[in-house]
Amino acid sequence: MSIDKVIIGAGFSGLLHGLSAIRAGQQVLLLERSQSPGGLIQSEEIDGIKFDSGAEAFSNVTPEFENWLSDLSLGSFVVKPNTKSPVILSKIGVHAIPQGVFGVPVSLDDSGLEFLGAPALALARKLDAKPLPENLDELSVRELIDLRLGPAFTDSLVGPVISGVHGSLPEHLEARSVLGGLVKELKSKGSIVEAAKTLRGDKPAPGSAVASFEGGMHLLVEKLVDEFVQSGGTLRLGTDVSRITRLSDGQFEIEAGETIRARNLVIATTANAAARMLVEFHELSVALQEIESLETLLVTVLVESPELNSFPIGTGALVAEDLGLAVKATTHINAKWEWLNDKLKKDQHLVRFSFRNSRKLDGIEQKSAILESFDLIYGVKSPKLLGQVEVFWEDSLVKASAGHLRRIERIKSLVEPLGIELRGAYMSGNGLLGILKHELETREGDLIGTGI
Ligand SMILES: Cc1cc2nc3c(=O)[nH]c(=O)nc-3n(C[C@H](O)[C@H](O)[C@H](O)COP(=O)(O)OP(=O)(O)OC[C@H]3O[C@@H](n4cnc5c(N)ncnc54)[C@H](O)[C@@H]3O)c2cc1C
Repeated sequence: MSIDKVIIGAGFSGLLHGLSAIRAGQQVLLLERSQSPGGLIQSEEIDGIKFDSGAEAFSNVTPEFENWLSDLSLGSFVVKPNTKSPVILSKIGVHAIPQGVFGVPVSLDDSGLEFLGAPALALARKLDAKPLPENLDELSVRELIDLRLGPAFTDSLVGPVISGVHGSLPEHLEARSVLGGLVKELKSKGSIVEAAKTLRGDKPAPGSAVASFEGGMHLLVEKLVDEFVQSGGTLRLGTDVSRITRLSDGQFEIEAGETIRARNLVIATTANAAARMLVEFHELSVALQEIESLETLLVTVLVESPELNSFPIGTGALVAEDLGLAVKATTHINAKWEWLNDKLKKDQHLVRFSFRNSRKLDGIEQKSAILESFDLIYGVKSPKLLGQVEVFWEDSLVKASAGHLRRIERIKSLVEPLGIELRGAYMSGNGLLGILKHELETREGDLIGTGI
């Protein structure tokens, strides 16, 4: 059997590319290792209540995602979160995320920054007026923010926000990888605050920078799969690709229990998974292994607690490292999404906790960390636990550490002559918006549907 195009991995990247290739008139076979498509977009259930267990929203800082859903006739499913945005908890206290980009404010006159104190704000003004360093592209997030705004901004604002999204500390992340737009604007504006203002425009509260799909992002995956299959694509689940070789006629031979031949090949997995199946392409495989990734442990609990009915911390909290808690972020899910709140019984609440060190806690430690978080973050002592689901995501978030973009450039230079296409969050950056933008920039067929 020889096919026009085989795509490996039916996460968001693979599904999107599958739709695009089908629209370009290609015959497409999508191979997925697990029994359910969606990759990091999955669902779990507690007491009959279904919720997203991985990605739960998309960024709408720029309009592409929402526009794309509208073009697919799915615009009516877009839901906005409760406008109360998450708060940041640090040693200084509880404070809101200022309007801006990843905690970098659009104005140092924002009254929400007063908690930092006058000396820290005066220092930020002084630092952000200084000439830019020559090594801007080499800086970590911590180095960049310390340099332009001072360490108080890194510890109490940008650090917690960036760790919440990328799972790593600001000193471990390359600024131009995870704050690419901001670094670019900084180079032209000369001020990081002005750069944030340019990017953020007049978008109001930080909470409004995301949106989701009514009923959960996992329902979007169902719609995309339906569209892909109805358009003539084939999705094969439970199919683990172990090895890829190139034949003398230029075709690819794909070992996946059976042997499949393809004229075109797209790998839409994590870098680690791609490295394993590409061992025959030694240099590329080694370069892919150099991409770092993180594990993520999420625990979602259903509790009964009238004290939570007032949504005491809005939609959730990002916890600064200096507090020393095991939890690094929490989402009060039904405070964030009304469609979910409508499904819960009186005084019931669904709360998600994301852990700093996914491997270090046993069951008892985990339970006490959750109760401690309810107490210290939500101000609720011993809520009645009704159910709990733990999800461990292995090899999930890309860790864009120092030199990440150089490593990606090298991978691109190695893969291009081979005629293999690589898709996935390590190529486009963590997050669904980045993946969509990458696909829109490089698409073959029209991603706009006839109406799913
Ligand atoms: C806990 C968590 C929460 C997140 N929340 C958000 C959020 O709210 N908003 C947001 O924008 N982003 C979020 N992200 C990031 C976002 O989920 C990812 O960037 C995105 O889903 C990655 O999609 P992908 O298709 O590139 O990779 P994946 O989703 O990892 O998909 C890769 C697929 O390849 C398959 N595969 C791997 N190896 C093989 C093989 N050998 N053979 C066949 N198939 C294989 C895998 O089973 C998987 O289905 C979150 C990430 C995590 C971990």
